Amino acid sequence: MAEIPVPAMKKKQLWKKFFINISLIVVLFLMGIFIGFAVQTDRLISEQYLTTARAHFKNIVLTRRWNAEHGGIFIKKGPGVRSNPYLENPDITAADGTVYTMKNPALMTREISEYARQSGDFIYHITSLIPLNPDNAPDDFERAALSGFEEGNSEVHALQKDNARSIYRYMAPLYVEDSCMPCHAKQGYKVGDVRGGISVTFDVSDTQRKMARNRFGFIGLGIAASLALLGIVLFLISRLAGSLSEAYSIIETMSITDELTQLFNRRHFHARLDEEIARARRYGHPLSLLMMDIDHFKTINDRYGHQTGDDVLKAIAAIFGSNTRSADIVARYGGEEFVVLLPETENETARMTADKLRAAIERQAFTSPDQSPFHVTASFGVACLDMTDKNNADTAQQIVKMADDAMYQAKQAGRNRVVVSSGM
Ligand code: GH3
Ligand code: MG
Ligand code: MG
Repeated sequence: MAEIPVPAMKKKQLWKKFFINISLIVVLFLMGIFIGFAVQTDRLISEQYLTTARAHFKNIVLTRRWNAEHGGIFIKKGPGVRSNPYLENPDITAADGTVYTMKNPALMTREISEYARQSGDFIYHITSLIPLNPDNAPDDFERAALSGFEEGNSEVHALQKDNARSIYRYMAPLYVEDSCMPCHAKQGYKVGDVRGGISVTFDVSDTQRKMARNRFGFIGLGIAASLALLGIVLFLISRLAGSLSEAYSIIETMSITDELTQLFNRRHFHARLDEEIARARRYGHPLSLLMMDIDHFKTINDRYGHQTGDDVLKAIAAIFGSNTRSADIVARYGGEEFVVLLPETENETARMTADKLRAAIERQAFTSPDQSPFHVTASFGVACLDMTDKNNADTAQQIVKMADDAMYQAKQAGRNRVVVSSGM
């Protein structure tokens, strides 16, 4: 008797696809989170740079305004203090003979910017497209920014590379204010005009380096988190796949098995019959079918009860199991009707198999619930498709009918016998 197959894991491909899809979702999701974090950190740092640059700019503008509103500031002209060559009368002498020289906003800015440069923290640069002092000529960044201010831009900033250093550059325009007019009205200045700008530059190499390290950290963490999550997902999926494939194989086995006798059921028999006919036709092999019906089975039920009837069916199923080859397909066809499909078997061998089964059934002793022994017999119909004849066009329906008719004839002829079909 052919074993009930335990189906292989047909869904393997499906699980693979499922796992790939889940992995993609997990990786994309985590990448999204980590990229989002990295971008957000970059944005915050850039905002921080800008805030710092604006504060420096504002500071110097306020200091200039303070100076301008006082019409310039005089300081004592001690050693090393130079007079402003761009002013007409920069120096005054006090009653006690001390000389004071004027520091106007432009000179004061330049001198503070020198202090800033020496402190190494940041650099100011006051400049314009047409500077009075050629030392104040703009560099490329400043020139582009100044052109932008003339078109209405209010500030410009950029992160630049200076050899191995990263520098942040900021520039905003300087507007002519009321406090500028006492000295500059004669040069044609008008309040609100852009007279140049101040650029602020500071070194951000350290922060940029830390950010790069941070980004590496994020990437590493992202990869580690993805791998960990994928491992967990793989573990859970393989467990799920295992349980489902077990359930699937149970369902598949159940769907082809007869519950009472554990033989194949009628549906599976028909599926196998079609396959076996096709195979027999392809290779030109014979194929036989046995059909069996227990004699007077109704009487067994009536006399000993349905439970005993079931026990008889199970015992006869076992007889079929032990008296057939592994290639034979044994099925419960209906209530007390069994069929056996015998691949590569012609008439005479099939008849002998049927007779062996018939004799085994007849020999089998049963015991009724009241302990009285009884025997049963069965009638067999045998049909053979001779596929060695290439022109044989017999179908599954025909071979079943031939076996059924032969079995009917066995019943008619007195039961407990085998009748071989003589064909259609
Ligand atoms: P025959 O020799 O002409 O085949 O007579 P029979 O009594 O075997 O034929 P019939 O078709 O009249 O009766 C078949 C009986 O099989 C009827 C039904 O109660 C019984 N049967 C069908 N399936 C089962 C089952 O699963 N368990 C039991 N106990 N009986 C069943
Ligand atoms: Mg019957
Ligand atoms: Mg019967």
